[in-house]
Amino acid sequence: MTAPAATDRTSSARPFSYPRPGSSLHCGAVSLETLAKKYGTPLYVYSADQIIERLQMFQAAFAQREHLVCYAVKANSSLAILKLLAEHGAGFDIVSGGELERVLAAAPQATCRVVFSGVGKTAAEIDLALNAEILSFNVESEAELDLLADRARKLRKKARFSIRVNPDVFAETHPYISTGLHEHKFGVSMKTALAMYKCVAQNRWLEPHGISVHIGSQIASADPFGAALDRVHTLVRQLERAGIAINAIDAGGGLGIDYHARAFDPEKRVQAYAKAVNTALHGFQGKLLIEPGRFLVAQAGALLTRVVNVKRNGKKTFVVTDAAMNDLIRPALYQAYHEIVPVKPRAGKPRAVDVVGPVCETGDFFARDRALGPIQPGDLIALLDAGAYGMAQSSNYNTRPRPAEVLVEKSKARLIRRRETIADLLATEII
Ligand SMILES: *Cc1c(COP(=O)(O)O)cnc(C)c1O
Repeated sequence: MTAPAATDRTSSARPFSYPRPGSSLHCGAVSLETLAKKYGTPLYVYSADQIIERLQMFQAAFAQREHLVCYAVKANSSLAILKLLAEHGAGFDIVSGGELERVLAAAPQATCRVVFSGVGKTAAEIDLALNAEILSFNVESEAELDLLADRARKLRKKARFSIRVNPDVFAETHPYISTGLHEHKFGVSMKTALAMYKCVAQNRWLEPHGISVHIGSQIASADPFGAALDRVHTLVRQLERAGIAINAIDAGGGLGIDYHARAFDPEKRVQAYAKAVNTALHGFQGKLLIEPGRFLVAQAGALLTRVVNVKRNGKKTFVVTDAAMNDLIRPALYQAYHEIVPVKPRAGKPRAVDVVGPVCETGDFFARDRALGPIQPGDLIALLDAGAYGMAQSSNYNTRPRPAEVLVEKSKARLIRRRETIADLLATEII
């Protein structure tokens, strides 16, 4: 692969590019070669500028109605990223007490913009959120609504809640991240939701806030979002006829990106999404909440890794990197595709290689039969679109310390998480 071809692989949807022919891969104005020297590898590198740009795409697309973008913390929960998003007006969608603690640590002023999703909230987690006075609980079952009422009464705090409905809408995505069909564990049926709102209408510790829905992740088409919200809007009207006012509709997250090198226009995708949402909710005067995760952070991030060796087994060539499935599990878990580019492209013909980590699992691969230009031990390569569900799903499997993280703002890079040490890993253990 020659340098220009490598440039093509970093589409304009990504903050990673080769500024000039012959130069190395940059994030904004910062060279990844320099970052690798300074902070070591494997290293997650994120563009703060792109994260804000994506947030603002949603804010602009919904400027005509009252809205709040609640970033889904689980996509990337690093404190510096939460702080950055909060400073630009984002709220948060959390799925655990731990994620709430992160918001409290990074952006305590934003707890009033937090919604709490998840099918198994414990009493302790509910208490934490009641005391933090979050915006709303997205309630996923009748038992949970009972528990919420019970905890609210005990703490003498009014709990605002939204019932998460399961719209029974099919969204084309990976089966592990599809959530909007009746066979999934998430939410309650439309009929149950109606009965639940009616049942608690007189409870002085519960305040109906809205209706929420989340149909899955990495959904490219706007149609399923429209279909789900059509149903939610119907339920809102039914509730209104029953005398129950709904102040907010939470449309969930799930808008997908394009992990391949094809031309992808994020702004067009957000606009198509906004159009589908606004069409379905035409006439609804309340507040719109959305919970994007991946769309805000995935393309802002890359996993920078050094090639440890290049190994031949019969006809196959393996490029072994110092990053592994414990650092980025998406290829192993979802058969996910990540674009891989050299930091300093070498001249020569591309050939098919497997890019693998050193972990003792055959599933420890980043790419199979991928056409890459010449690669030598010691070279740096970058796995693109790794900002979402990368570091957040990392582990210490094989007693591997997790990577450091760097956030790039314009021409400045700063460490936002130091590399773990073996001492960190052993600290909790008792012999
Ligand atoms: C995971 C999740 C999201 C975010 O999904 P993305 O695909 O990252 O946008 C939003 N809301 C809920 C309830 C979730 O579980």
